[in-house]
Amino acid sequence: MSSPKRRLLVTSALPYANGQIHIGHLVEYVQTDIWVRFQRMRGHEVHYVGADDTHGTPIMLRAEKEGLTPKELIANVWKEHKRDFDDFLISFDNYYTTDSPENEKLSQSIYLKLRDAGLIEMRSIEQAYDPVKEMFLPDRFIKGECPKCGAKDQYGDSCEKCGATYSPTDLKNPFSVVSGATPIKKVSDHYFFKLSDPRCETFLREWTQVKTPLQPEARNKMKEWVGQPGESKLGDWDISRDAPYFGFEIPDAPGKYFYVWLDAPIGYYASFLNYCQAKGMNFEEWVRPDTRTEQYHFIGKDILYFHTLFWPATLHFAGYRTPTNVFAHGFLTVDGEKMSKSRGTLISAHSVIESGFNPEWFRYYFATKLNDSMEDLDLNLQDFVARVNSDLLGKYINIASRSAGFLVKRFGGVVSDAAMNNPLLTDIASVSEKIAELYEAREYAKALRTIMELADKVNAFVDENKPWEIAKDPERESDLQRVCSVTLEAFRLLSLYLKPVLPQVTAEVEDFLSVPAMSWNDVKAPLSSQNPIKVYKHLMTRVETAQIETLLAANL
Ligand SMILES: [Zn+2]
Repeated sequence: MSSPKRRLLVTSALPYANGQIHIGHLVEYVQTDIWVRFQRMRGHEVHYVGADDTHGTPIMLRAEKEGLTPKELIANVWKEHKRDFDDFLISFDNYYTTDSPENEKLSQSIYLKLRDAGLIEMRSIEQAYDPVKEMFLPDRFIKGECPKCGAKDQYGDSCEKCGATYSPTDLKNPFSVVSGATPIKKVSDHYFFKLSDPRCETFLREWTQVKTPLQPEARNKMKEWVGQPGESKLGDWDISRDAPYFGFEIPDAPGKYFYVWLDAPIGYYASFLNYCQAKGMNFEEWVRPDTRTEQYHFIGKDILYFHTLFWPATLHFAGYRTPTNVFAHGFLTVDGEKMSKSRGTLISAHSVIESGFNPEWFRYYFATKLNDSMEDLDLNLQDFVARVNSDLLGKYINIASRSAGFLVKRFGGVVSDAAMNNPLLTDIASVSEKIAELYEAREYAKALRTIMELADKVNAFVDENKPWEIAKDPERESDLQRVCSVTLEAFRLLSLYLKPVLPQVTAEVEDFLSVPAMSWNDVKAPLSSQNPIKVYKHLMTRVETAQIETLLAANL
């Protein structure tokens, strides 16, 4: 039944070390974590790594503003991010930083390999420069008046008032956000990764359109960029920045640094390398071109371009394997709207915990919304309360509380082995591979719908058999034991199916049912009279509507 053992390296996108983790980020970590936990339950070898993305101008400037060195700032933010991931039960095998010696070495060696392959070119370009602060200004650090409607204080790329898009040089009365000075033009040498090189074009056309089973939306998007031979829209990629910059220096180019987006994805490998060294694993075996291992990146749809063009090209031409696939998800909206600070819907992960929410409520809710597409998903706060209370508690948790008491009080917790052949149980166990396929395909919403339909069947079984009435009849002792045993075994199976989503609750269930940590194959390992169950303790509380108000207020 079980598939041959696979070897998987899995990543989630690297959060920028410039702010808090919010629920929009959590969608992705929860999505990845469910998949990773599912793969572990299947008995595969899975390594899940992440890191904070730490380099670039925004980090440098924020550190300065807070009177910290960039390294101090990113160390503080790392602790907060790690705390939030732990709180939400995100089971990284290694959570690292891109500002690591492993990443510096890997980035530099990858760059040199690209250069030796003739894919790096130096060119002089003219850019906005802050003459007071003596630094080049990224577009987001230039503001001015909109060239179209004259609105003041607009960014260099688009006007928030009239929606016009333009380039920073079009702004009227531009000023540097850093010092307030009027930017001047200055020429500087930059290093480019020649994506327009025919070798890159050919490789990326093949990789995105033929070789990789990308999501259809992703494949179409990339088709626009790589086009037909001679039609490619791929421009060369500027991978360098001038000092002052917080990042890694480019070899043989004093004062030039790698653009943060060059070293960030390499940070996946650096985190994995760091982990391999700690575990005595062979890193090379996983990253060489002929490897049999699999490599998956979970990302938001906004960074598809970096992960399906720049990253595979970087890897391929530096002599590494390329990703097996890249899985992009949509954005989270709250009550149908973009998350907003002023409405309190830009909800930080930490505020969820501080407001007394159970993180598994969110894991469950997100899972009921997630599928394999890049469609946006909505957190509807009323629906959240309803689903947690009526489905998670009312349909699932409730099953255990309805039958465990009788079994412990009347039978010392001993189940009836004969009851394990009940058709209801055969029925529930028979869909295990179907549910596994849905998890594998990231169709969590469908998987949970299937599981909740099974929960409905179990509740119907309890309602028909009425253990609370059988319990009154001294002559129906064995009936009572049978009904409660069937119900609890059904509850065990549902818990097994929900385990990737609800790791905490299911760990408590395993303890209460006296079963070892369940893997997927344990569908075939029913409860046994040899291991009496323990006294039922409440597994989860209801969410109260008032808690939602508290949460929104905490984020205003
Ligand atoms: Zn405007």
